[in-house]
Amino acid sequence: MTGSPLTAALRRASDTRDVVVGRGVLPQAGPRIAAQLGTGPFLVVADDNTWAGAGPRLVASLEAAGCVMAEPLVFPGSPTLYASYDNCEVIKAAMGEATPVALGAGTLNDLVKLAAFELGRDYAVVGTAASMDGYTGAGAPMSENGVKTTRACKAPVVVVMDLDVVAAAPGHLTASGYGDLAAKIPGGADWILADVTGIEPVDADVWAMVQSGVSSALSRPAALAAGDPDAFDGLVEGLCLSGLAMQAYGGTRPASGAEHYFSHLWELAHLGEDHDPPLSHGAKVAVGSLAMCAFYEALLGRDLSRTDLRAAVARRQPWGEIEADIRKLFVGALADHAVRETRAKYASGEELYARLAPLVADWPATAERLRAQLVPAADLAARLRLAGAPSRPEDIGLTGDDVRATFPRAMYYRSRYTALDVAWELGIFDDLVDEVFSGIWP
Ligand SMILES: [Zn+2]
Repeated sequence: MTGSPLTAALRRASDTRDVVVGRGVLPQAGPRIAAQLGTGPFLVVADDNTWAGAGPRLVASLEAAGCVMAEPLVFPGSPTLYASYDNCEVIKAAMGEATPVALGAGTLNDLVKLAAFELGRDYAVVGTAASMDGYTGAGAPMSENGVKTTRACKAPVVVVMDLDVVAAAPGHLTASGYGDLAAKIPGGADWILADVTGIEPVDADVWAMVQSGVSSALSRPAALAAGDPDAFDGLVEGLCLSGLAMQAYGGTRPASGAEHYFSHLWELAHLGEDHDPPLSHGAKVAVGSLAMCAFYEALLGRDLSRTDLRAAVARRQPWGEIEADIRKLFVGALADHAVRETRAKYASGEELYARLAPLVADWPATAERLRAQLVPAADLAARLRLAGAPSRPEDIGLTGDDVRATFPRAMYYRSRYTALDVAWELGIFDDLVDEVFSGIWP
């Protein structure tokens, strides 16, 4: 059944017109897809695992709704399907005149999303795991000639998530989705800071869409790890809402902050890529979220209302020094990228003073908003552990020092304004990172 938060979110979504989440809803896939996309022909794209879990029932439901079906395209289940452009080409070649229906999770959905977009078709997805918030998102992360990019595409028109199917998915996929949803905690806090500093005001509707269900969705980690279908409602709905919020907002700010940049940087370093299955997006995001929750704890330990803002602004490094620092921390095209991104948010003098003045002046109120949004890093670590998600750097093959070294790089990596920038502009960045690793880090 379509719950009311989803119905409200669909009203503002740019591409997605129907989302069905519930136990036993797979037979509704046919009529719901036919109602939005006609009677085909449809091409179901799956892999051996997702096909075995739901393929024949999905096809039967589409046929019962009067749809014409092409021969399904089923990729091998092992090794794990890779989000490479080659695989997207395979799907495009199989599509002919058909409208694709993805039956799978992250990678499969991304491949079908891009294939459909490039051929100018709409598509639907029947999700098989609560593994990330990209089902309803409009971007497809893809690897092409060894370089990772996120291609802008259209989100699916119909999304069907049968909780009985999703709950039967391998546990590491659920743990990944738990990590991706946990990111909304520090990511939301970053948006609060961007709001207070006037850089990116909070859109109240979009905020509610993403944030209102997060704490309850994360409240049953052990039941999720045990595969109890009744525990999946909030997690699946939360992940879907997060993608719909990005559609409504026209960007990823509602669903991600600095914690995602830790993950992106580790992905660019190919962390865990040679594992089978490869280390998931949500696993890296889980550790990034812990890093940022710990950083926020250090930040909230300060009384920023006592800041001598004139002195802080006077101490601000000139742009040339910052560019030199970026070029020490990054090489090649990534260095040029980081310079461009950081330049876009760099401010000094009166501009910097005007940006930070409201934060310093209203710090007690802002700190209150942040405390209501955040959880202590130790609590988040305990919940991630119960969900079967990574809760220490070692769980994803990193050391504490690796995470520590990622802090400044995460700040330079994107133009998005986060807690890292606030601390840096106030001249307390290094001290807060020291505090994270001398007591707060769980
Ligand atoms: Zn994510």
